[in-house]
Amino acid sequence: MSILIQKLKVSAYTVPTDGPESDGTLEWDSTTMVLVELEAGGKNGIGYTYADASVAVLINKTLRKVVEGEDALQIPAIWQKMVKAIRNNGNSGLTHMGIAAIDVALWDLKAKLLDLPLVTLLGMAKTEMLVYGSGGFTSYPTDRLQKQLGDWADAGIRYVKMKIGREPEKDVARARAAREAIGDKATLFVDANGAYSVKEAIEKAHQFDALGVTWFEEPVSSDDLAGLQFIRQHAPRAMNIAAGEYGFNLSYFERMLDAGTVDVLQADATRCGGITGFLQAATICQAHHVPFSSHCAPALHLHPAMSLPNFYIAEYFYDHVRIEKIFFDGVAEPKNGVLTPDLSRSGLGLEFKRKDAERFEI
Ligand SMILES: [Mg+2]
Repeated sequence: MSILIQKLKVSAYTVPTDGPESDGTLEWDSTTMVLVELEAGGKNGIGYTYADASVAVLINKTLRKVVEGEDALQIPAIWQKMVKAIRNNGNSGLTHMGIAAIDVALWDLKAKLLDLPLVTLLGMAKTEMLVYGSGGFTSYPTDRLQKQLGDWADAGIRYVKMKIGREPEKDVARARAAREAIGDKATLFVDANGAYSVKEAIEKAHQFDALGVTWFEEPVSSDDLAGLQFIRQHAPRAMNIAAGEYGFNLSYFERMLDAGTVDVLQADATRCGGITGFLQAATICQAHHVPFSSHCAPALHLHPAMSLPNFYIAEYFYDHVRIEKIFFDGVAEPKNGVLTPDLSRSGLGLEFKRKDAERFEI
């Protein structure tokens, strides 16, 4: 049995943020989504990545012809052809974000062709996905930081994350303000996006520990494996060092794990070659006995995450939650700090709201 892919359509959308946003090393005022739609056997698979709009051009010019006419049921064969096609453009970065958007659409399409929720096609290891509320941008004044994190905690979300590192001298006071807002309803995570030096990070780790912080993400640049490893050795025992969001291929994750840099590995299916790459990254993690976590795009990670025995927690990222609710019907809402999919819907369970998205199309 084979079902040929008739058409690949790609589009891109830029959605302004609801105010200035920044973390330890970047400022932004909009987010761009590149969306892929695949048609086969009367079904429509959708996939997306949060990437530069140039990824849409790459998909159109280089990857579309690799995918159209292929058998929609044979995802590994198509994935391999896509990786071959981008060889001279680099096995990382934007090329893998293009592959990611297509790969997600392939998985959504296959599940729809079989009339199954994606998690049923993959096989379920868990019945729900634990989430942490993620926002707390360094651009937020203290009252907004406290309100956002406090609202999540009040809504039953048991873990919340804030950004740090833009003005390091203010970070401990900001974390204390966040702690006051969430009380003992939630556990506090921090993310420096690589903004600190190694020594600064170790000093801050002990100060954050006193505020009950249990997750310190990217204290230094994720390219500094020796630095991350040193911080992990010298941070308080109860504090997880987390990184991996800039992993685009398996070798990256293997190097990071092999160097003993993290207590939790993060991966982003919209970057690391889609659901195919995400599942493979989780398997490498399992071999290293390290818990696994998803970065951003919660609606996209829900089904694959639930298929993984070593999955720990998903990032419920403020910007992407906002966009996914505008763009899709069927987005799961957190209840008691977890997401559960609607198993009456096939594929990822998402339906693209073209009319609502149109005004953001570029
Ligand atoms: Mg991060």
